[in-house]
Amino acid sequence: MRAATAWTALRRAREHAVGRCPICGRRSVFLQLYGDSYREGLACVRCRSVSRKRHVALVIRDALDPSAPTAADAVRRTSTLLHTTDGRDALSASLRGYPGFSSSDYEPGVEPGASLGPQATCQDLERLTFADGSFDVLVTEDVLEHVRRPDAAFREIHRVLRPGGRHVFTVPFFYDRPTLTRVDTSGAEDVHLMEPEYHGDPIRGRILAYRTFGVDLFADLERSGFATTAHVAQRRDAAYGIHDSVVFVSRRLP
Ligand SMILES: [Zn+2]
Repeated sequence: MRAATAWTALRRAREHAVGRCPICGRRSVFLQLYGDSYREGLACVRCRSVSRKRHVALVIRDALDPSAPTAADAVRRTSTLLHTTDGRDALSASLRGYPGFSSSDYEPGVEPGASLGPQATCQDLERLTFADGSFDVLVTEDVLEHVRRPDAAFREIHRVLRPGGRHVFTVPFFYDRPTLTRVDTSGAEDVHLMEPEYHGDPIRGRILAYRTFGVDLFADLERSGFATTAHVAQRRDAAYGIHDSVVFVSRRLP
């Protein structure tokens, strides 16, 4: 650890957590070094996963096999076919080489379906190239707010999941308000309804947020053929270094 990092770690000592990581499976320390967001903080010193990533992993593990030490163990034990739109994170690293794992990224200018490397393809969530019923679990983390037509994305996710399959996802969310539409996408061109909001992205630098989802999301998902539950971080999740986080699970109805 560099001296500056060590100093920051010391200064914020009361915010760190100790526990077991549901991604790398090890006893670990979860360091809150930067910013105010625990959701995007509490980095595992072993696998570098942040709280949000571990929450997604824990929800997957508990849905498949709560007795498994890690999410990857649960996926392998149950021969789950899992696809994620983040092939760069620690969960993906823990599943790499497992034949039922695949990942995708949206890269403008690359033909959807084209290979981006081992077990990875370019995909547009509004028109996936996968066959019907391809996956048991599909993971999107903070992606759907950047999709121009989420209704099309939900239709496609429903199509590529097996009946009973799960869409496990996170989005910035308002619990007390309807969805805030930031950009009118009803026509061919984007019409900005407010000051554009951009989020950081590892590939494109920054990407436009079309909306912040609100409570009407549940009814929209029901119309799309999903039963959705929200998993709110609880006291016991603190043992996994998870804090201030919600993970949604939409189960595909038959
Ligand atoms: Zn870890």
